[in-house]
Amino acid sequence: MKRIAIYPGSFDPVTNGHLDIVERGLKLFDKIIVAIMHNPGKTSLFTIDERIEMLQNSLKKFSNVEIDTFNGLTVEYAKRRKAQGILRGLRALSDFEYEFQMALMNRKLNREVQTIFLMTGFRWIYTSSSIIKEASRFGGNVNGMVPALVQKKLREKFGYTARGTKRKAAKKATSQAAK
Ligand code: ADP
Repeated sequence: MKRIAIYPGSFDPVTNGHLDIVERGLKLFDKIIVAIMHNPGKTSLFTIDERIEMLQNSLKKFSNVEIDTFNGLTVEYAKRRKAQGILRGLRALSDFEYEFQMALMNRKLNREVQTIFLMTGFRWIYTSSSIIKEASRFGGNVNGMVPALVQKKLREKFGYTARGTKRKAAKKATSQAAK
């Protein structure tokens, strides 16, 4: 039987911390489906299509990784995709409580799907999409924390040149969070 895990998240945008979890998850699973959750209640910087493009570009070397999107319950999606596992990453203690509640709720909803946590790679312990966005908004250099394409897209979104100087007419961010 092929072991499949879904790796759900916002990936707004994908960071090297996420990529590390996927790479290590592939040692446990035959296939990983990186699934972008549609969450209308959550404001995002990048559109779903932009997030798909960045994920596809960053994970193209893996033939056993698929990028997808879904609405609704993660366990229902996992069942539809015939996945046995939900992969999640844990950084600091602050992730733990939310992840713990979520894993217990998901188990209550479907006992067949197991949540698997991988501890973050030491290098990525302080890397989060939100902190990357905060730094990029003010022209901070996030080199080495995100893939090159993501760095480029962040610069475009916030109107910075490759040298970190502000462009005259900043490209308008596509969705609410950038305002
Ligand atoms: P969410 O929107 O639920 O915060 P994200 O899209 O940021 O989710 O991340 C998806 C998953 O990846 C979560 O399990 C999160 O804990 C994990 N993750 C995010 N950044 C890192 C990192 N630097 N190291 C390990 N895991 C991470």
